Amino acid sequence: MFRRLHVKLTVLYATLFGVTLLLVSAAAYSAISDNARRQVRGELTASGAVFDRVWSLRSDQLREGAGLLSRDFGFREAVASRDEATIVSAMENLRSRFGIDLAFIIGVDGRVSALDAGPIRAHAADLAAALNEADDPAGVITLGGSPYQVVAAPILSPDLIGWVVFGSRLDTQEMSSLERLAAIPLKAAVLRRGPAGWEGGDPREQRVVSRFIDDALARRSAEAQGLAGVRGAAVALVKPLDSLTGRDKAVLLLRYPLAQALAPYRALLAVIVAAGAAGLALVVVGSWVLARRLTRPIAALEAAAHRLQRGKEAHVAVTTDDEIGRLAESFNTMATEIGDRERRITHQALHDAETGLPNRLALEHAADAQGVRGGIFVAAVGVDRFAYVRGAIGYSLAAQVIRMTGNRLAGLEGGARVARLSTDVLGCTLRAETAAEAEAAAARVLAELEQPLNVGGDTIDVALSVGLAPLSPGAGGAAQAIEQANIALDQARAGRRKIAAFDAAAYGDPSANLSLMSGMLNAIEVGQIELFHQPKYDVRGARVTAVEGLVRWRHPQRGMLRPDLFVPMAEETGHIRNLTDWVLRRAIADQAVLLGRGHDVEVSVNISGRLLGDRDFADFAIAEVNRTRGRICFEITETAVIENPDLALEMIDRFAEAGISISIDDFGTGLSSLAYLKQIRGHELKIDKALIEGVTESQRDALIVRSTIDLAHSLGLKVTAEGVETNAAYAILAGMGCDNVQGYLIAKPQPLNELLKFLHEDKAKVRRYG
Ligand code: C2E
Ligand code: CA
Ligand code: CA
Repeated sequence: MFRRLHVKLTVLYATLFGVTLLLVSAAAYSAISDNARRQVRGELTASGAVFDRVWSLRSDQLREGAGLLSRDFGFREAVASRDEATIVSAMENLRSRFGIDLAFIIGVDGRVSALDAGPIRAHAADLAAALNEADDPAGVITLGGSPYQVVAAPILSPDLIGWVVFGSRLDTQEMSSLERLAAIPLKAAVLRRGPAGWEGGDPREQRVVSRFIDDALARRSAEAQGLAGVRGAAVALVKPLDSLTGRDKAVLLLRYPLAQALAPYRALLAVIVAAGAAGLALVVVGSWVLARRLTRPIAALEAAAHRLQRGKEAHVAVTTDDEIGRLAESFNTMATEIGDRERRITHQALHDAETGLPNRLALEHAADAQGVRGGIFVAAVGVDRFAYVRGAIGYSLAAQVIRMTGNRLAGLEGGARVARLSTDVLGCTLRAETAAEAEAAAARVLAELEQPLNVGGDTIDVALSVGLAPLSPGAGGAAQAIEQANIALDQARAGRRKIAAFDAAAYGDPSANLSLMSGMLNAIEVGQIELFHQPKYDVRGARVTAVEGLVRWRHPQRGMLRPDLFVPMAEETGHIRNLTDWVLRRAIADQAVLLGRGHDVEVSVNISGRLLGDRDFADFAIAEVNRTRGRICFEITETAVIENPDLALEMIDRFAEAGISISIDDFGTGLSSLAYLKQIRGHELKIDKALIEGVTESQRDALIVRSTIDLAHSLGLKVTAEGVETNAAYAILAGMGCDNVQGYLIAKPQPLNELLKFLHEDKAKVRRYG
């Protein structure tokens, strides 16, 4: 019922105190009223004794008067001779002397005469009989409804001839004088037995009083108990009065109302009650205050525990040094520890353990908060060929490279949020409205980030690629933007571009891509896979001397798919072996067709890094190549060699021994290792189109291309420039001594019959570029 502790305590204390108070009051009241009763009873008994005394004095007095008269000779003569006049005069004389209320003479024959004879006549016979019996006749008789105390004296002449009877009325006046004799203001009354009970008192109380008197007489106790009456409780004393005739029963009732007896104590009781009430109020207030004082720290603790539950600041003030104070201290310590632990866990959840940089989740939170206003792109900055870097400098220094790059990035784009998204990818947000703006911002970032790093005392060059994706509020939010930026990074790498914005069309539908993976084998079987060819143009010889086979998937629903989409998938699913087997066979077959038409061109096949560790593939490839007369070239990437150098170099040696020329593809993307370059038994170096793109605009790129060409030549390698699209680029490259040129300027990758047409025209007229 009471949910608050201090209310409970207060109610408990108040109830306890109230009950105690009641008990004390009841005990006090009963002691007081007992005492009062005892006192009153004592007084009543004393008054009873006084009454007895008064009664016997009065009897003596009456007896004296009656005796005096009855012994008088003249009077006796008058009675004997029935001299009424003498009798009356003698009695009148005595009545006035003794103040007698009732006086008459009754003969032994029951004849009544003299003064008050009238009313007595009805009882004369009884009275005479009673007087004959009694030795000392005295007692109460009732006449005309009033009780009288009477005494009789015998008249002897010389024999008994009658009695002189004197009586005194027991009236209110009589009682008042008795009351005045008492020490306490008691009420005295003489009641007589009537047909309807004891009469003569207050008629309203008659029933109660009658029962009380009967009880008292039955118990023969003169001392009466409390008398319950209409006027409240009273203490009373019943005294039976002797009846003269035995017929007229009468009692003296002395009573004193209890309320009156208690009156002197009423003030005391009032003081007790008032003190009790004041005490109760004091206890309520006191226990309320005390309970509040006790429970306030507990309530504060409770509130703090609720705050703690909601992950809010939950310290409580320690105000006492008792158990509660110590509890509060322990609670505070606990809250601090929980807070610390939570912060640690949150930090761990939002940071990368290896570098201490924020992690993907942290970037998600930050970007989501930032992105609500729009105009935000997420950039995924990938360290190119990180596996190689790590192999070369070790895990901890490689982590340092990531950390330093991350810190640099954080310092760059004023307050940009930076995070480590995966082993080799950092993420950040960029302010940009359009993809073009974002790419420009990313280019600025790259220029700064690709400055050499000082790691462990050595200078290291890092090459980076960037994928960008807009953060559209709502939709998938930052999580989606980060994923798309990562995909864009993959797209940039696959397209060998430094920067790429997420291209939803190229990426396609992820679930559809999933079905692509499973559909590839079938695609080979049903002939959806085709081989296109792109010419390689010999600069000095001014003609096409070779072609590169580039695979295509003519998908029934999705149209012509480029290898950037499905080759990485084939590598992941293991279908790359089947695909490459098919490409190699088709390349050899196409070469035979070309040769048949008089075009002796070398045919290049791209060999995935995955297959460089596959000896079975090497056996198959060498066997296939051995069956043909044509010149076959395998394009392999330097990365493939770096990842598993021993096996790759061994296989490259075997290919070279089998007469297959080796072309080092995609040179200039990411880290290059001269150490490996020297070990590869290559014939050709293909400079990646990402470098060639910049050759007309950037002096730096031009310089790199030139030194690469020189380096390749010094290693005895021919140089092919990829992705040549303009005459300007061609002119520069030719000027630098580049041996072969491949690119849209010469021709796009095309089906065999188109290639045949192209080669035919090419033979017919000499082409000039630059
Ligand atoms: P790659 O070996 O570097 O092939 C050159 C890519 O550059 C081709 O893309 C070609 O279409 C494109 N290209 C040629 N000239 C130009 C130009 O002037 N400008 C531009 N912007 N691009 C030009 P494609 O055919 O989409 O092939 C992409 C990559 O797919 C290839 O890059 C190669 O790594 C891989 N690939 C293609 N066919 C095969 C294959 O049969 N086996 C394996 N393992 N990989 C293959
Ligand atoms: Ca290639
Ligand atoms: Ca290439």
